[in-house]
Amino acid sequence: MGNDAKKTIAVLGGGAAGLAAAIAAAEALRAAGVSARVVVYEADERVGRSILATGNGRCNFSNAHVEADVYRNTAFVGDALAELRCQACAADGVCQLADDPVHAFFADLGLLWREESEGRLYPLANKASSVLDVLRAVARERSVIEECACAAVRVDAPSKPGERFHVRFADGRVAHADAVVVAAGGRAARELVPAGTPYSEPRPVLGPLCTDTAVVKQLNNIRVRCAVELWGKSGEAVADAAGFAEHAAGGRSFKAREEGEVLFRDYGVSGIAVFNLSRFAEPGDLLLIDLLPAVPAAECEGFLHTRRKRLGVAGRTVTGDDLLRGMLLPAVAQAVLKEAGLRESAPLTKANVPELARALKAFPLVVRGMGDARQCQVSRGGFAVEAFDACTMEAQGVPGLHVVGEALDVDAPCGGYNLHWAWASGILAGRHAARIAEAGR
Ligand SMILES: Cc1cc2nc3c(=O)[nH]c(=O)nc-3n(C[C@H](O)[C@H](O)[C@H](O)COP(=O)(O)OP(=O)(O)OC[C@H]3O[C@@H](n4cnc5c(N)ncnc54)[C@H](O)[C@@H]3O)c2cc1C
Repeated sequence: MGNDAKKTIAVLGGGAAGLAAAIAAAEALRAAGVSARVVVYEADERVGRSILATGNGRCNFSNAHVEADVYRNTAFVGDALAELRCQACAADGVCQLADDPVHAFFADLGLLWREESEGRLYPLANKASSVLDVLRAVARERSVIEECACAAVRVDAPSKPGERFHVRFADGRVAHADAVVVAAGGRAARELVPAGTPYSEPRPVLGPLCTDTAVVKQLNNIRVRCAVELWGKSGEAVADAAGFAEHAAGGRSFKAREEGEVLFRDYGVSGIAVFNLSRFAEPGDLLLIDLLPAVPAAECEGFLHTRRKRLGVAGRTVTGDDLLRGMLLPAVAQAVLKEAGLRESAPLTKANVPELARALKAFPLVVRGMGDARQCQVSRGGFAVEAFDACTMEAQGVPGLHVVGEALDVDAPCGGYNLHWAWASGILAGRHAARIAEAGR
């Protein structure tokens, strides 16, 4: 299994970060005129299956406006993205601030794409396979070797200078390598990085949330455009609180806010806004749903009073039902009236308006935990970034060993940012691994 003396870079995992690392390594070796092998060891029967599943099969592979502050471990990611940019400037001899280096990487592979809402980038062919096709074609052309059905179980670092890494596989085979890139994703085995590297157990996030079911059961499969705030007992605020929510949060502190679509399910809530909040949610936290985001909180009562007056022309009695008809779907209106303690058919008095405004602007749901882990898009946790060099992804205590992508404790909201990180960290690690092979370390 590749135990000859030829310099070898072993990439463990043939997903997004692994393929980017392998291509970047092979390109750097070719540019330096160094003869070395780049081998991708993939546990699955084929490389890139994880890429095919992204973006509902369309692969939202990046974002037009990537900023480090959307990521967990912002400073580390910021340094990594800045380094990638510096490398691009150094290679071209000019500072191309306008060109994102990850986008340039894909343009060089031949991928065309288009921008959709909120800067999301999708391949022009609208199929994830189009992203994988260009990656595999260039990898083949650069003589990257794919070894599939090879699950790495342990990596032993060289015990003295001049020795090589020993990569052990589930079937008992062992491969030797001069540099290793661990790109095994969010559930990467801890043993792939030598002991002592700080690590936290990954937990699935960026998925649906389970909440109290009494309310949501009645709303199953209903979608609403709204704003949602997450309030909890602990946790740092990641945005500014806005609106009515403060009064409704019962002593909790503000954590995060999202605008977009929420899909009610019989177990809780789903949709992109909820996925993004799930990165910060803990059991016991409160979701406060603003069902009327177009009306500022301070104006909501006035808005409802005016509406009540308008609908009550010619002495007509206005019920809660009347007031919400044409504003919300009937099932949602029912839930709001119940939350406000009002009966649908009872006349709505002036005195009822403040409670109705609160229920509309801060409809509460208690979080019970994450929903189905299979729907979660990333894992939070893994290898702590403090143990790695942000410019190379090399482990501080283990020269030649790199960890990239989701295996590191980096995650971001929906929008192409997670894949962007996978490519960016993979490219940095691949280039550095090539330098190690070149230097004969
Ligand atoms: C359903 C879904 C949709 C998503 N959609 C998007 C999206 O549109 N945009 C976006 O930015 N992000 C999206 N993500 C997140 C994105 O897919 C990940 O952030 C990204 O794939 C992480 O890249 P990675 O290379 O670190 O891990 P992965 O892509 O998961 O690759 C890891 C690879 O390593 C292999 N492997 C694991 N263990 C071993 C081992 N021991 N030995 C050898 N190989 C091993 C795995 O089989 C896999 O091929 C989505 C995720 C999911 C689940």
